[in-house]
Amino acid sequence: MEKHGTVSENLAEVHHRMDTAAAAADRNSANIALVAVSKTVDASGIVPALDAGQRIFGENRVQEAKAKWPALRERYPDIELHLIGPLQSNKAHEAVALFDVIQTVDRPKIAEALAAEMDRQGRAPKLFVQVNIGNEPQKAGIAPEAAVAFVEQCRREFGLSIEGLMCIPPHEDDPEPHFRKLAQLGREAGLRSLSMGMSADFEEAIRCGATYVRVGSAIFGERA
Ligand SMILES: *Cc1c(COP(=O)(O)O)cnc(C)c1O
Repeated sequence: MEKHGTVSENLAEVHHRMDTAAAAADRNSANIALVAVSKTVDASGIVPALDAGQRIFGENRVQEAKAKWPALRERYPDIELHLIGPLQSNKAHEAVALFDVIQTVDRPKIAEALAAEMDRQGRAPKLFVQVNIGNEPQKAGIAPEAAVAFVEQCRREFGLSIEGLMCIPPHEDDPEPHFRKLAQLGREAGLRSLSMGMSADFEEAIRCGATYVRVGSAIFGERA
């Protein structure tokens, strides 16, 4: 996707498309949040989005987020920061300290490390379980067949409250069957939040029940 306008214009356009997709699906767009994915965008590139009123952001690397966001938070204290990239258990400490939402809980070891850190720090970021919805060998996420049991394990064994499910469908596939499958798994697990849909497919995701869409290049332009 090409960058056609300023960040502020792009944000307005994405919101307009979200509203239109919600209306077409008979949904209230107030129930769908936009996570602006600012990975690779430096602080000066993020400020225009903040000045346009955007407050929810997604980053995929803990170190990059740690370098950019503490200073921005001083100027804009009401930011909600989401981790949307893979998490190693040795980064659990930093992730719990920095993020308000961690979308990529995908194995018992991470769940256990997060539970311990949340206890230690007295912080409780909202947690999503990432599902490897297309069963791709190279991709992060719990297998779809194991997702509902894993949500249960997070609750029972680690005492974690899970907010929802997140997925990234296979690049080459029609995303819609994958989005529908994630929605079905969410119902089975008793979860209401679904993080799905990116720049190329957030309208389909909204049609399938997304409550968070994660949009980067349609807001900030193509990444280098
Ligand atoms: C980069 C990224 C996005 C945003 O992708 P765009 O195509 O730029 O909108 C969304 N989700 C995750 C997990 C990402 O890593």
